Amino acid sequence: MARIFWFRRDLRLADNLALNSAIAGAKDDGDSIVWPAYALNSTDFFELAGIRQHSLVASLESLDESLENQLTVLNGDVAATLTAFALTQGALTVHATRAFDPAGVAEQNAVGLALKDKGVFLKLDDSYYAVAPGSVKKPDATPYRVYTPFFKNWFALGWLRPQALAEGAKFLRCDESHQMPEATKPAPFTVKAGEQYALHTLARFEARALNGYDENRNRADLSGTSHLSHALAFGEIHPRTILDRLGDSAGENVFRKEIAWREFYADVLWHNPNTVTEYYSPVYAEMRYDTGASADEKFEAWKAGKTGFPMVDAGMRQLLETGWMHNRVRMIVASFLVKDLHLEWQQGAAWFEENLSDFDPASNAHGWQWTAGCGTDASPYYRVFNPILQGLKFDPNGDYVRKYIPELAHIEGAAVHEPWLLIDGLANGYPAPILDHAKERDESLARLKELKADA
Ligand SMILES: Cc1cc2nc3c(=O)[nH]c(=O)nc-3n(C[C@H](O)[C@H](O)[C@H](O)COP(=O)(O)OP(=O)(O)OC[C@H]3O[C@@H](n4cnc5c(N)ncnc54)[C@H](O)[C@@H]3O)c2cc1C
Repeated sequence: MARIFWFRRDLRLADNLALNSAIAGAKDDGDSIVWPAYALNSTDFFELAGIRQHSLVASLESLDESLENQLTVLNGDVAATLTAFALTQGALTVHATRAFDPAGVAEQNAVGLALKDKGVFLKLDDSYYAVAPGSVKKPDATPYRVYTPFFKNWFALGWLRPQALAEGAKFLRCDESHQMPEATKPAPFTVKAGEQYALHTLARFEARALNGYDENRNRADLSGTSHLSHALAFGEIHPRTILDRLGDSAGENVFRKEIAWREFYADVLWHNPNTVTEYYSPVYAEMRYDTGASADEKFEAWKAGKTGFPMVDAGMRQLLETGWMHNRVRMIVASFLVKDLHLEWQQGAAWFEENLSDFDPASNAHGWQWTAGCGTDASPYYRVFNPILQGLKFDPNGDYVRKYIPELAHIEGAAVHEPWLLIDGLANGYPAPILDHAKERDESLARLKELKADA
């Protein structure tokens, strides 16, 4: 008898409770054989931006290396390929980590049913979180809608200590079924990923930036954050492993709270699966948003980083060049899309999904909704980010803007945030602002008033 371990967004060996459960089962079976497999749907894969394709390939290659080249990568419909694989290997149980997001739940339901039809059991364990979504509840047993009390209760519940990989498994690969994907689009740099790289990233962050995290995490021009989001999104590291290493300094406490935002949004999405694409506060769906050719043109300018607002454009270009964007700048560009361009948050979220190598359904949908003012615990709708003031505050010397916008490299210091004020500011082809922020802010507030009047 053999067991299959289905790797999903848990591409690691250490601290993987579902994998340990597969190994324990295989030992009980008497042969200790586990067939580790990843099921890829290449139609979805080909749609990803180049950086996202390359980062998934790098993660899988790294995982395969850790497994001494015993990973089978299946290609095709996930339920169909996994079921066929289980039947070929004579497996009666497929093990996996339980997903809580709508797409992950739909996928595991489809896989579970297809396997059951052939007499194979899908055993789901653990989650991608320190505390599984749905576990943190208010005293009246209803879910939290506000972060701070969620955090207190989440922290009080606590989590397991990280678990090492169980010993004694015989990992085997099926060469006939194995099809490692190849990226079809280029990436602008060699993407590094995988479990060892995640641990290295964590160690580098601990040595260089964790101490000052509370002070520096909002500064776009500093490398003040961990850059662990890709590793967390793909499960190259489990949050337990990170949390276990945190002490009680100011930097460590704030960092723990940021990890908890990821857990909060996963919990919110678990209780409200429709909010992956729908408004958490449905009233905002009734707001007046712009559509048509002019709106499309502005959306294109936003995507390309050509709005004429340096802090917005630097962020959008950082996304295209690196597959990542600083959190503060994600908020600035999201606010700009909703409150200056008057577009719906879902348009921006879809662009992020296509390009972010750390894409996470819960953090993306609810990061957008929070900033747009329609989410949980949201910043009030009338709080509109001023892209110039945000730039001056969080990139005070203009280094971040100059790094991503070569047309502005000739401008020294903070003046780069308002290049139109300088005689040669727009000399290298950088566009003039496509809109008047003060005017659009008023327009946004007027639309909010209409909504309230209708309510
Ligand atoms: C509009 C918008 C969209 C976003 N989309 C995503 C997304 O698709 N995937 C994603 O992982 N994060 C998303 N975030 C959250 C945040 O921007 C990133 O997690 C963070 O920038 C990643 O960088 P880091 O690893 O250096 O973060 P650090 O500051 O080092 O934080 C450590 C970890 O905590 C978690 N975290 C930190 N801040 C947040 C937050 N505000 N919300 C949720 N989790 C957080 C992340 O897992 C992060 O890796 C989004 C935020 C906004 C405003």
